[in-house]
Formats: sequence, C-alpha cells, structure tokens
Amino acid sequence: MTSSSVWHPFTQHALEPPITRIASTDGAYLIDEDGNRILDAISSWWVITHGHRHPAIMTAIREASEAYDQIIFAEFSHAPAEKLAEGLIRIAPPGLKHVFYSDSGSTAVEVALKMALGYFHNIGQSRDRIVVMEHGYHGDTIGTMSAGERGIFNAAYEPLLFGVDRLPFPETGMEQRTLDAFEASCRSGRVAALVIEPLVLGAGGMKMYEPQVLSGLKAIAERYDCLFVADEVMTGWGRTGPLFACEQAGISPDILCTSKGLTGGALPLAATLCTARIFDAHLSTDRRKTFFHSSSYTANPIACAAAVANLEIWRDEAVTERIQGLEAMHRQHLASFEGDERFTGIRQAGTIAALDLVVPTGGYLADVGPRMRRLFRERGLLIRPLGNVIYLMPPYCVTAGEVARAYDAIDEVASIVLGKPQ
Ligand SMILES: *Cc1c(COP(=O)(O)O)cnc(C)c1O
Repeated sequence: MTSSSVWHPFTQHALEPPITRIASTDGAYLIDEDGNRILDAISSWWVITHGHRHPAIMTAIREASEAYDQIIFAEFSHAPAEKLAEGLIRIAPPGLKHVFYSDSGSTAVEVALKMALGYFHNIGQSRDRIVVMEHGYHGDTIGTMSAGERGIFNAAYEPLLFGVDRLPFPETGMEQRTLDAFEASCRSGRVAALVIEPLVLGAGGMKMYEPQVLSGLKAIAERYDCLFVADEVMTGWGRTGPLFACEQAGISPDILCTSKGLTGGALPLAATLCTARIFDAHLSTDRRKTFFHSSSYTANPIACAAAVANLEIWRDEAVTERIQGLEAMHRQHLASFEGDERFTGIRQAGTIAALDLVVPTGGYLADVGPRMRRLFRERGLLIRPLGNVIYLMPPYCVTAGEVARAYDAIDEVASIVLGKPQ
C-alpha cells in the first residue's frame, strides 16, 4: 500500500483497503490505473446523470475555458450564468423567479436557510424555527447537519448544532401523523421554514414516501405562511422520474435547492431558486436588508457553461426515454426479489431502486455495509450500501445488461453476507 497525504471523505483509513486510483471515466464506468472497469452503479455519489464525460458537456467546458476562469460575481455577470438562470426558471416548478448560485448541495441548503431567516427578518416577523423530517440529510456543514438526522455521523459536533422541530417519517399508513406534527409546529407561529427532501430521503437510507404527503405538507405551510424549502439536491434531474420530484406532487416550493446533477455531475455547482416575494423582501435602499452571502466561486463560468450544456441535453436528447427504460429495468429486477426472505422494503422511485438486507439483530449492522461494498468491488461494481440498505442509482446511459449485472451481484453478495447457499 502506498502512503498518501490525502484524507478521504467518509473514510475510516484504519479499516479501509487501499484507495483505488482512477485514471479515467467513461459513460457508466470508472477505469482504474490498471485498466479495470468499475461499473458506477451509484453515479459517483449521485452526481453523474447522463453518464461520465458526456461529449456535449465536455465540449462546453473546453470552450468556456478558452474564454473564462473564475470571475467575481458581485459587480459582474457573464453569459453562462445568465443563460443558465433563464433556463432554470423556465424548467423549474412555476413561481420560482430568482437564482442564487453557490458550489455544493450543502451551500445550496445553507443559502436556503439564510434566505428563509432573512425573509422573515426583513419583513419584521420573528420566526426562527426550522422544521425538518426525521432521517433527513441536507449536507455536512454545521447548519445543514443541524437540519439533518443526528447520529454517530455528527455526535462530535452536536454541541454546535441548532435545534429544529422534527417530523416523524411518513411510514405507509402513518402519513397523517407527519402532517399533524407539522401543523402542531406551525401553530407556535415561530416556524420560518420546512426543509425537506421530496419523496426520497437519500442518505437517510433511501426512504421513500408518497407525493400526497408532500402536497399535504405544502398546504399546511401555505396555511401558516411558513416557507417550503425543497432540497432537490439528490432528487433533481430526473432521479425520481420527472425533472424535479416536486412535480409528482404538483407543488411549487418557495425555495428549491439543486446541485449534484445540475452540471450533469461534471463540475461542482449549485443553485438556490426562490420566489419573487423572498427576493423582494431583500430588495431595499436599506443596505441592512441585503442578502449577505457569497462563496468565492459563486457561479463559476465554466461550471455554469457545463450546466447550460446539461439543459440542452435535456432539451435535445431522449433523456426521458432513457429514464423510463431504466425505471422499467428496475421494476422487472425488483419484482424477481419479491417474496425473497433475504430482503425487505423493496422499493423504487423512478431511477432509484432500494432494498433492505434482512440481517440478524445485534451489532452486526454497522459492518454489513462495508463488507457488501467490498464484495461488490470484487465483482467490478461500485455499490455502497447504507448499512443494510442496498440501492442502485446508475447514470441514465446504463444498459439493460449492466443493470442485470448489478442485480446478479446483489443476489450473490446477499447470499454470501447471510452465509446461505445460493
Ligand atoms: C448530497 C446532498 C446534499 C449535500 O450536497 P453536497 O454537494 O455533498 O454538499 C444536500 N442535500 C441532499 C438531499 C443531498 O443528497
């Protein structure tokens, strides 16, 4: 094992096998320095939508880099940012009118939190409570960790995290309990915003719930004049089927956060979209009402150009058909696991498929994820279970044969981990 100074994310270096160096990427594959092709069945942590190195996106990056590098985004603007904002407003749920750029999902959510608090501050209402859903994930900064589920991942930072109201996850048949809890929070009159992942709680274990819950929550938010923040960082760009998951509930959030698939996954970029009333509450000759937020790399022109190319791919290519094809492949393979006692919670939301491995109770759960991950890697697949939750979220260029390979591997790995003959 070669020693490296690099400290990798979410990695326990004392337990991990040597880190693999990737030499190139191609479509649904990562290719290591020895030429091994690894099927990227989780879209490199959910960012790659169409496939690695989509030619139109790479060309846009090359061309933009002939003209720009980073440009300060106060006092100045540029065509890629303007074009992208225009395009985003056109395709986003109706009512969203302004686009604030940043560079990651976490910053997109931080911006949303600040917009919500800033809105009520500027209109002179004392509302400072944030409501979230149990098992939510919104990023790894202090603010977004505060809004997310608490556990071993953030125990050390707990003293710095701010308090939020947590709604119970809307388990099937228990949806009303979630709506009632939200209404109870709203009655305090102090709730500024509900921050929620629409339809699928990703990092919390690919937990899925019905669109009616989302529209129910939106109706309550409207009734109590509390802002509805949709964290579509993972669910956006077709993962649940339509472009944004909110569309399935027929709702328009007050604030929408997008990142991961915004550039097709090629470059870091994020956008927080908001309604006119939020922007207008910050519009004033009083400088104190300014939205005081910036990242150095706000609206990087090359990243914006990549995102513009992504919009063009959505407009010009058969992306929807590819998504529908992938949905059908998942449906077919998942059906073959129905009634299989090794699995429970077999579920799908568009291009995301998940199932829980039934593991015997007792401390074993923490190790089952890394163990499965290693077994998948031995089979040439990048699949990173969340504990006992196995999920697939491949890029849309994936073929039926590749998807079948992933399900065969799940079948095989599950048996190995459970110590049962296949
Ligand atoms: C990944 C994710 C984030 C954080 O995005 P980063 O780019 O990793 O900071 C926020 N919200 C959701 C729902 C996510 O899945």
